[in-house]
Amino acid sequence: SKVIEGEKLRKKLHNTILELKGNIRVFCRVRPLLPGENSSEDKSISYPTSMEFLGRGVELVQNGQKHSFTFDKVFMPEASQDDVFVEISQLVQSALDGYKVCVFAYGQTGSGKTYTMMGKPGIPEEQGLIPRCLEQIFQTKQSHQSQGWRYEMQVSMLEIYNEMIRDLLPSNRSNGDVARIENGSAAKQYVIKHDPNGNTHVSDLTVVDVCSKREVSYLLKHASHSRLVGKTQMNEESSRSHFVFTMRISGISESTGQQIHGVLNLIDLAGSERLSKSGSTGDRLKETQSINKSLSSLCDVIFALAKKEEYVPYRNSKLTYLLQPCLGGDSKTLMFVNISPDSSSSGESLCSLRFAARVNACEIGVPRRNM
Ligand code: ADP
Repeated sequence: SKVIEGEKLRKKLHNTILELKGNIRVFCRVRPLLPGENSSEDKSISYPTSMEFLGRGVELVQNGQKHSFTFDKVFMPEASQDDVFVEISQLVQSALDGYKVCVFAYGQTGSGKTYTMMGKPGIPEEQGLIPRCLEQIFQTKQSHQSQGWRYEMQVSMLEIYNEMIRDLLPSNRSNGDVARIENGSAAKQYVIKHDPNGNTHVSDLTVVDVCSKREVSYLLKHASHSRLVGKTQMNEESSRSHFVFTMRISGISESTGQQIHGVLNLIDLAGSERLSKSGSTGDRLKETQSINKSLSSLCDVIFALAKKEEYVPYRNSKLTYLLQPCLGGDSKTLMFVNISPDSSSSGESLCSLRFAARVNACEIGVPRRNM
């Protein structure tokens, strides 16, 4: 009976953590080893098999020291894109029910963020979260339409590089940002405005009405092309900018007049690698500093929300200011921490896990111990 008591207590503790965290969840995903990466005899990552941590724990050995972390969910390398999507489809439903949702992918370059978000184009079973979310949204839209619901959906896609916003969709007003970048001028200064209804608008940002997955897929292709052109023109490395995909969903029930206004934000964050790895002079230094600033601002915001602090420092970066209406309140946030299993990445992996752990569960331990 002691075992049962212990189990009950653990469950209670786990529920308390969830309650404290409100609508914030953190999932860890470890990608498979890629060809040419280190072999199995050198295992730096393992997964505790005790009931308590099954599916939620991850352990990393670095310099002979073992570090253990717990998340809401841990996806091992074998997890398929579908396994991952199953766990987030509820969030997509929330956006359709009128909630504001943010899903982030965090991790060093090469850890699988883009694979998680976009997947491999052209291979259906390797489609990532964005195409799968779209599939679910448009399917649900169709089935709800037969029950008298009418929907309007709009998408925008932007990236934030060096604290500057770049529109990734073609604009009707000019030849678009691609042209502006080609002309050698820096990307236009887009201004973020908050309206009284608690929404953010980015001045001049292209927002497109969409009715089908095909239309959005076309826009996604355009966005990824704009990203590439922008990067080459500005001499950036890949993964130095945050990619923000936003879909606004408005619905009205023709029978009851009930309205919903949901938002789904899917964000592929810039690589989180530290300064030493990416070089530390000139433009690269500025880049890394602005990435660090926005990632740590994001962490500060989520941490403040998890701790239910009165002051949430949204204004410290463009990313958090832009997403402010979708972070906190009754909105829902999920962060993927993407990890590479390669032992040469264990330093970066440890940093990512620590970052995530800070966002994830420390509020139950740290503040109490300080009291
Ligand atoms: P990031 O966006 O973090 O820089 P990528 O998503 O580009 O990283 O992933 C790096 C490489 O690893 C890519 O070749 C990608 O296809 C591969 N990869 C990442 N995650 C997985 C996975 N879960 N299964 C198979 N291949 C993966």
